[in-house]
Amino acid sequence: MSLIKTDNLTFEYIRRDDEGNVEGITRAVDDVNLDIERGQFIAILGHNGSGKSTLAKHLNAILYPTEGTVWIDGMKTSDEANTWNIRQTAGMVFQNPDNQIIGQVVEEDVGFGPENLGVPTKEILERVEESLKTVGMWEYRKHSPNKLSGGQKQRVSIAGVIAMHPKCIVMDEPTAMLDPSGRYEVIRAARALNDVEKMTIILITHYMEEVIYADKVFVMDSGRVVMHGSPRDIFSQVDALRELRLDVPQVTLLAHELKKKGLDIPDGILTIDELVNALKRSR
Ligand code: ADP
Ligand code: MG
Repeated sequence: MSLIKTDNLTFEYIRRDDEGNVEGITRAVDDVNLDIERGQFIAILGHNGSGKSTLAKHLNAILYPTEGTVWIDGMKTSDEANTWNIRQTAGMVFQNPDNQIIGQVVEEDVGFGPENLGVPTKEILERVEESLKTVGMWEYRKHSPNKLSGGQKQRVSIAGVIAMHPKCIVMDEPTAMLDPSGRYEVIRAARALNDVEKMTIILITHYMEEVIYADKVFVMDSGRVVMHGSPRDIFSQVDALRELRLDVPQVTLLAHELKKKGLDIPDGILTIDELVNALKRSR
């Protein structure tokens, strides 16, 4: 059974005036079909306004489809009786860590989620330790979150989500507000969660470098999934991505330009090592 499945998912935001008359309709998600297996690392790309956050909110039963259906671990999100279980199954991490951290001390913050779930105290302590160690923040457990860097705060938010033992984590541009080293820390933590803990990760981002390790990439435009495939499939299509107002990783772009100049190198180069090897072979 798929962990996440959407069937012709469509969502419209409806704007009304003071009398309740419909003023405008924005179709933010348009006929999206996803089928995500447990253990996958999925990336969702798309420029601003392409519908990524609206889609993400359907995976956590924050929004319900206007048309179509979403199942999380077999539970239909439109059935309100499932909401509690769905939110425990699919944890969310948002852009701004300051809106997600409520505790005065790191370990206390991470413990809030399991505490709300009614987890016994002894187990809460175990979960806090395990989660903070997973994201590399255990040594900061007694610190105040206010004093941490952006990347550290975001890792504490992620620990707070993992402490609830979800089956998957949806991260909606978790690195958008971070500096490069913070971005690196968060992506490394996300990859470790997937590699080591086999946690299913849905990473929404517009930083291309962050998706090269994904199992599968979906590209959104105007609410639709317009491209999907492995990172290599996606980044082989430099011109199509540019039309969608998306960049490609710098090394992919360099390889693409060198190829256009006549060098014999393949499409979809993702890393510097790959480019170096391709250049050696092309001589
Ligand atoms: P992304 O996360 O890719 O930037 P969003 O899902 O936030 O995209 O937005 C998709 C579309 O829906 C955009 O046109 C946006 O203006 C519109 N939208 C988003 N949130 C709302 C809202 N609360 N009310 C009305 N329209 C919205
Ligand atoms: Mg968004």
